[in-house]
Amino acid sequence: MELELNPLALTGIDDKRPTIIAGPCSAETEEQVMSTAHQLAKNGTRIFRAGIWKPRTKPGGFEGIGTEGLAWLKRVKEETGMLVTTEVATAKHVEECLNAGIDILWIGARTTANPFAVQEIADALKGVDIPVLVKNPVNPDLELWIGAMERINGAGVRRLGAIHRGFSTYDKKIYRNLPQWHIPIELRRRIPELPIFCDPSHIGGKRELVAPLCQQAMDLGFDGLIVESHCHPDGAWSDAAQQVTPDVLSYILSLLVIRDEKHTTENLAQLRAQIDECDNQLIEVLAKRMRVCREIGTFKKEHGMTVLQTTRYNEILDKRGAQATLCGMSAELIKRVFEAIHEDSVRQQMEIINQ
Ligand code: PEP
Ligand code: MN
Repeated sequence: MELELNPLALTGIDDKRPTIIAGPCSAETEEQVMSTAHQLAKNGTRIFRAGIWKPRTKPGGFEGIGTEGLAWLKRVKEETGMLVTTEVATAKHVEECLNAGIDILWIGARTTANPFAVQEIADALKGVDIPVLVKNPVNPDLELWIGAMERINGAGVRRLGAIHRGFSTYDKKIYRNLPQWHIPIELRRRIPELPIFCDPSHIGGKRELVAPLCQQAMDLGFDGLIVESHCHPDGAWSDAAQQVTPDVLSYILSLLVIRDEKHTTENLAQLRAQIDECDNQLIEVLAKRMRVCREIGTFKKEHGMTVLQTTRYNEILDKRGAQATLCGMSAELIKRVFEAIHEDSVRQQMEIINQ
């Protein structure tokens, strides 16, 4: 299904890349919302975000201030002139936001992964002309992401945008949510007229990753950024580690290099993003292999076996070399790589045996 889109035209500043949306992960208190909003507005932010209903992995965390917070967002609009946006996950959220005059809605990653919930939101949006931003689903599934946008578009919403917030994985990693840049790049190829925002806060999960991720997004030709910013990040009730103060955000944005001739650098940046992605995967797979090796070390210790099992080692080198040839790579290179990996595995198993 083809999407029928109108330009997002959020604030009339759309012609200037990037469009910035900033604000706290959650609206916590009226004071925190107003203080953050005034600081952001003073620094030039035109669109304010704050979560009112918060999807939390486990019960017991701060699940959002709820309806009460909508009045605070209204106050933000009145006092600063910024547009305001919040996350909706149910038809009731949509209805309450529309009544409160919220300007832009966004659909969260957990909701995008659930077609029933997205359809419920779409039905509640029938005949309503409000911009909607759709975050990628938590799992790396481009079709599910596009499908969610098709549902919202099917309800008549023409001003749509996508937000790339990374994808969750089981294993430990540098990023809270893996960027897997090739997925939004493919989204751009499939639907070129769809504005794509990057959410460096949820990709990185840590403050220090916000700036480099913003730059990467700009190098890849993203249209906007949605960044979590809080007047006292360390005391935030949700996502404290990834929020930055309005002043830090302003500094990060001032350092961004925005290349206007988007297309000259975009291709190289896209290829480099693919290399980064491959290297991330290599490192994660190697880390997983090392964990398994250490488990084997424990097994060998418990069963009184020697660390070096020569037959197994030769078998690995031969098999991996042959596989490499089949994949069009040099068997010699892959043997050298596996010799290095094996050397470290032996060293780690020796440590376990001698513990
Ligand atoms: C958020 O933006 O605060 C949020 C909950 O994001 P996501 O849906 O990307 O996890
Ligand atoms: Mn958050």
